[in-house]
Amino acid sequence: MHKVTSEELFQRALNVAPGGVHSPVRSFKGLDRAPVFFKKAEGAYLTSVEDKKYIDFCQSFGPLILGHLDPEVKEEVHRMVDTAWTFGATEIYSLELAEWITSTLPFMEKLRFVSSGTEAVMSALRVARAATGRNKILKFEGCYHGHVDNLLVKAGSGLAGAAASSSAGIPAEVAAQTVVTPLDDEQKLQEVFHNFGKDIAAVIIEPLPANYGLLIQRQEFLKKVAELCEKNGSLLIFDEVISGFRVGLQGMVEKTGIRPDLVTYGKIIGGGFPVGCYGGKKELMNMVAPSGDVYQAGTLSANPIGMRAGLTTLKKMQRLDGWNVLEKRTQKFTDAIRAGFAKKGVPLEVSHSASLFWIHGPSKTPIRTIEQIPGNQGATFKGLFLKSLEKGIYLAPNAYEVGFVSMAHTDEILEQAAQAIIDAAE
Ligand SMILES: *Cc1c(COP(=O)(O)O)cnc(C)c1O
Repeated sequence: MHKVTSEELFQRALNVAPGGVHSPVRSFKGLDRAPVFFKKAEGAYLTSVEDKKYIDFCQSFGPLILGHLDPEVKEEVHRMVDTAWTFGATEIYSLELAEWITSTLPFMEKLRFVSSGTEAVMSALRVARAATGRNKILKFEGCYHGHVDNLLVKAGSGLAGAAASSSAGIPAEVAAQTVVTPLDDEQKLQEVFHNFGKDIAAVIIEPLPANYGLLIQRQEFLKKVAELCEKNGSLLIFDEVISGFRVGLQGMVEKTGIRPDLVTYGKIIGGGFPVGCYGGKKELMNMVAPSGDVYQAGTLSANPIGMRAGLTTLKKMQRLDGWNVLEKRTQKFTDAIRAGFAKKGVPLEVSHSASLFWIHGPSKTPIRTIEQIPGNQGATFKGLFLKSLEKGIYLAPNAYEVGFVSMAHTDEILEQAAQAIIDAAE
């Protein structure tokens, strides 16, 4: 009997969705092959329609910190599915997650649940603009904040900070409301504040930028960002959609000791279901409707299944001291890869932080800005990715996406994966 292949399914998908996908990176663009179609996921593994098993380091781009189909989360999800799917009314499930977050993360005095990271960012920007009566938002080159019109921008020419849209369909007037500056450059940042300071409603930053490679920032730079916000009356927004509940219970707030005005979450907070969240200082969040006049709403906001999956995930991580466990495992895993690369003379390096890792070409200095990313990253990655795939390793299918280690990635699985990656690189 003929078994369906990923290739055939991709041909069908191309007829019905742009590029055959519902989010661009899934398409394997530039990798010269059809994307793998999967039919099942469990723990650290994905199974393709061809019945090939892969160790998954994409983990749906981060939400699954416990791995796929964690048994405890699964049980709670089953229970919730048998209880209610959505209320569109007040209920106890979002209350419990909100109380857990506000009591565990003191800087989250009040919050609002939404359905994606993009929505969380978009809403936080609206609050910041309302609170300051200013329009401009400052973002950093190499940080991703979802597909919010305002933030799909790159550095423009001319005055330091001027931005141009990086996507078609975004009016120049909209892009012009954003100011862009490089990461890791205090001087440029100062210059931008000098040019636009009194118009900047908020500075948004991924405190651990992990959407354009892994661009680990110096603490002094983050401190400078916070200091300049304070000085200029601009709000500081930490976009912790990827780093929140990933690098530690309190995310980068805990790691940096910096207290932002607003924080955005997504990914892990929904335990694999579509949940986003924004929150922070009470007086800011009280500006949101119906207590204030910043309008923001959602038909499926605080979806109970996501609320339950999220809370169960977070409590389990806390109970298992999961963040420490993952940090140790990832250190060991990346050390093994580094040692293997060195032994075989493979000119590749691994950056890592907590349970995030990123493989890239050699660099004399730590890579903190997009300019510092070695120029052949695309080609380097393509070879590594395709060989790894052959050997049963599924890395996120793009040179600038990071890898995620989950609690389902045991030391044994990681040893096996490290060896496969080293062999693939060779
Ligand atoms: C993933 C991500 C987003 C967007 O979240 P979606 O749920 O994909 O809309 C925003 N900011 C950061 C830092 C992210 O990693």
